Amino acid sequence: MRIKAAVATQAQQPFVIEDLNMEPPRRHEVRVRVLGVGICHTDIISKDQQIPVELPAVLGHEGAGIVEAVGEDVTKVKVGDQVVMSYLSCGECPSCNEHAPSYCHQFAPLNFLGRRPDGSAGLSRQDAPVSGRFFGQSSFASHALVDQRNVVKVDIDAQRLPLVGALGCGFQTGAGTIMNALDCQSGDNVVIVGGGAVGMSAVIAASIRGCHTVLIEPNSQRRALAVELGAAAALAPDIPNLKEALSTHLSGGISKLFDTTGIAPAIEQFLPLLAPRATVGLVAAAEADSAIKLDITHLVLTGITVKGILEGDADPDSFIPELIDHIKAGRFPVEKICKTFPLEQINKAIHEQKSAKFVKAVLIP
Ligand SMILES: [Zn+2]
Ligand SMILES: [Zn+2]
Repeated sequence: MRIKAAVATQAQQPFVIEDLNMEPPRRHEVRVRVLGVGICHTDIISKDQQIPVELPAVLGHEGAGIVEAVGEDVTKVKVGDQVVMSYLSCGECPSCNEHAPSYCHQFAPLNFLGRRPDGSAGLSRQDAPVSGRFFGQSSFASHALVDQRNVVKVDIDAQRLPLVGALGCGFQTGAGTIMNALDCQSGDNVVIVGGGAVGMSAVIAASIRGCHTVLIEPNSQRRALAVELGAAAALAPDIPNLKEALSTHLSGGISKLFDTTGIAPAIEQFLPLLAPRATVGLVAAAEADSAIKLDITHLVLTGITVKGILEGDADPDSFIPELIDHIKAGRFPVEKICKTFPLEQINKAIHEQKSAKFVKAVLIP
């Protein structure tokens, strides 16, 4: 069938709206009518080839929509179901078997090759393949062709369904890091560095958990939003007495430090403020060879843990429905942090997302 998609054709160049051909679903596959898809930093760096996805490609990995067709062996969903799409995992390796699918031993080939394991793409233009299956979904498009392992059935009102696609990556990463990987609890002193979609969803999750949270973020509108969403304070990173200001807000030191920036000096400056037995969570797709300096003796004497975290250590099948419940109960106000744009305005949306108050641009195909 013919679909409409925003195609990444060249690094550093804008996305181009094109009509493409999509194959029918295979036995284990599902075709989803995409109703909303968030834009994530990983989409941009993949278009620009920091992650070398073969171009031309349909990117997009925060899609939500309705199941339109299913292959004959699909058991997880049926036509008409509301779904959020997440990343793909193999379902058979040790990580998948222990409900840690973001550390699937096949994660990179399944999510970044642009092809099925047999080499086919599922998408084409003028008979030439176009890379699909980005994070298993390629949802910057009217339709997505995904393995059934990629979809999570949800139940939410039609108005907010288009906004919840980011539960498949950005919001899952932010909230999952707070709730799963760092297991933040009431009484934790949490510092979140960077108030984008990941950082802001972390602020919301930390508020749900009753933590004492400070966000570090240069954009004043986003700092105000974080306080509205439950942060005790939000500070600009360039104030002259940042460490002193933090110390007054967080007596006893930082128990959970969550960096979303991947900028080494930004992380290192907070290490002396960590409480004994604190945990540092790192989630950013940082520049190649980025490194932070750690004092071994200090780590030993304080029992500090430094942890790399992918997709919030979440198993989408259980965590996305949990977050949907928070949204429906009004505890996770997606409508306050998202702004919608028509798919055709993808390049404008990317530009605006960098500096706006909203943290998640959602494209409506
Ligand atoms: Zn696996
Ligand atoms: Zn992402």
